[in-house]
Amino acid sequence: MGVCENYKVIEKKVEQACIRAGRKKEDVTLIAVSKTKPISMIQELLPLGVRDFGENKVQELTEKEELLPKDIRWHMIGHLQRNKVKYVVGKACMIHSVDSLRLAEEISKEALKKQISVPILVEVNVAGEESKFGVSVQEAPSLIEQICCLPGLQVKGLMTIAPYVEDPEENRIVFRNLRKLSVDIREKNFDNVTMDILSMGMTGDYEVAIEEGATHVRVGTGIFGERNYNI
Ligand SMILES: *Cc1c(COP(=O)(O)O)cnc(C)c1O
Repeated sequence: MGVCENYKVIEKKVEQACIRAGRKKEDVTLIAVSKTKPISMIQELLPLGVRDFGENKVQELTEKEELLPKDIRWHMIGHLQRNKVKYVVGKACMIHSVDSLRLAEEISKEALKKQISVPILVEVNVAGEESKFGVSVQEAPSLIEQICCLPGLQVKGLMTIAPYVEDPEENRIVFRNLRKLSVDIREKNFDNVTMDILSMGMTGDYEVAIEEGATHVRVGTGIFGERNYNI
């Protein structure tokens, strides 16, 4: 199947998951994760009206941003180093992967310089996997308390990368815990913190994530096919 057919299949499944969860389909954004994939595959999706794309590397995001229509919303979903912040601020519509005060400070500094406000999510390593970035569930509220007062950024919600599992049901508890955490944080009423975005769910488990409250799902393989990192 081609990229457009794949996209339509996933879009339909997103809608069905919304119906099961009693949610509106407009409340879930399907982000097409185009990392490692060529510009031509992104262009195929544009006539369908697809405008949300996800990238995990700053250089790839900025290269694609330069060549493609300006109404595309580029989501920075990968680990971000402080020395690359200046390239991505102003190009990405949202940074999903903030996991330290120092990174947030750098984003704030760059946003002030460019006189913009950057929507960010705090990445939480819900399952406590050693290989993953993100703060722990326990650390998240205090990190958010520290960064919410920084000028030039708005904390919009939380993001997680769930473990790789065979059965997506195994990740339901992970998504449920991220949702619970966002409710707890919202109740603290920090300034500049809205907690209305939950970025969770990938190709293997986005339907379960939607059932548990995801507002943004990040699907790569299901739309663009397997990635080949060796070429
Ligand atoms: C690559 C990636 C995805 C997409 O993964 P698939 O399993 O291919 O859908 C989602 N989120 C992040 C942060 C990623 O790096």
